[in-house]
Amino acid sequence: MIEIRNVQKSFGSLSVLKDISLQVKKGEAVVIIGPSGSGKTTLLRCLNLLEQPTNGSIRIGDAKLHFHEGQSIKRQFLMELRLHTGMVFQSHHLFPHMTAQQNVMEGLVTVQRRTKAEARTTALKLLHKVGLSDKADSYPYQLSGGQQQRVGIARALAMGPDVLLFDEPTSALDPEIVGEVLKVMAELKQEGMTMVVVTHEMQFARSISDRVVFMDQGVVVEEGKPEQIFDHPEQERTKQFLNRLN
Ligand code: ATP
Repeated sequence: MIEIRNVQKSFGSLSVLKDISLQVKKGEAVVIIGPSGSGKTTLLRCLNLLEQPTNGSIRIGDAKLHFHEGQSIKRQFLMELRLHTGMVFQSHHLFPHMTAQQNVMEGLVTVQRRTKAEARTTALKLLHKVGLSDKADSYPYQLSGGQQQRVGIARALAMGPDVLLFDEPTSALDPEIVGEVLKVMAELKQEGMTMVVVTHEMQFARSISDRVVFMDQGVVVEEGKPEQIFDHPEQERTKQFLNRLN
């Protein structure tokens, strides 16, 4: 489903991703963990082409792009790859002047050129899926952080992505409402959605992931099944990181 090969990303002289190769299979949930500043968000943003890798290649489904330093890529090709992914951000990024339903409809109407009636029906279905049927007409300021985050998930799902990318989806939430967002994510996983999740929630990483990737200083240090990474890490850097959390 996703193949990342030798991806490098620099911001000026700062090399943030050093040589990342990673595969994600269809239906797999991969969780990326690692210390602050290790490049987790940058990798996710590269997958969604919010950042363009400096070098390397990314394939998602049947769309593939090669990146070479100093060469810019046509917007049309970037958009093509981007359409395969849906991104759920740390804070909710909803349009404040639109209701929950209108937020979910927006991409369907403007990007996918669906009729308003069709978009309305799809949006209601998706809001139902994330447990928010009764909030369709609420504006973001009338919703809790967890509810806003669930609207964000419905909005990402509306575009029919092959893979959902989550950037610390629960870190801006109060602990008591983290559970409702994790529940929706666990349901999506059950339904076979391919997911890549950056999180600091180790308990969640352990429960939802098929594979855990530990990153440090722009490289993948170690990856494996959650039991392997959390209970029997092989690399010293992984051990140190996990020990610090306990
Ligand atoms: P955290 O867990 O704190 O969110 P992270 O592992 O997700 O951290 P990134 O956000 O990917 O780390 O950042 C990696 C490095 O890249 C940091 O040193 C950051 O300052 C730098 N960086 C990220 N985006 C930019 C940018 N647009 N311009 C310059 N430097 C950037």
